[in-house]
Amino acid sequence: MSKRKPKVATTSLCGCFGCHMSFLDIDERILQLVELVEFARSPINDIKSCEGEIDIGLVEGGCANEHNVEVLREFRKHCKVLISVGDCAIGGGVPALRNTVPLAECYEEAFLNGPTVVNPSGKVPDDPEIPLLLDRVYPAHQVVKIDGFLPGCPPSADTLWEALTALLEGRPVDLPYSLVKYD
Ligand code: SF4
Repeated sequence: MSKRKPKVATTSLCGCFGCHMSFLDIDERILQLVELVEFARSPINDIKSCEGEIDIGLVEGGCANEHNVEVLREFRKHCKVLISVGDCAIGGGVPALRNTVPLAECYEEAFLNGPTVVNPSGKVPDDPEIPLLLDRVYPAHQVVKIDGFLPGCPPSADTLWEALTALLEGRPVDLPYSLVKYD
């Protein structure tokens, strides 16, 4: 009987998809990865929901709105190991620049008074379909338990590859300085 391949899933919250792009930069190693793992939910394969247990989950982006929180909590429930990938997941990243500004001012700038705003209604959109913004942008580990962190904006393809293969092989993720320095 063939052994079950480990399941890997990824999700993107409030990020720019740059971490996912970096993941795709593993280039031809993706063929090797397809041999090693089964891809579950991911923007890469456009599967949008988690089924069953995921062995390794990678999360890009922090939580800026209620939808991000819902997605992250659901993702966590399925993942045996969950890794925060990139500075947005780890610390909020660029979206967290708004954390220094009161939320009401953010809404006013975005929808009412910003220099490029055209909004004849003069109202902040309040369609129930639009997820409510949180008071600030939260890193993933302030919302759910996170088992590991891969810093960078984005972490390089080599960093992602090394970390993922170590996890798959049950080795400690012991990244050399060259893969975690950003100067
Ligand atoms: S860490 Fe950088 S590359 Fe990754 S989602 Fe955030 S801004 Fe994009």
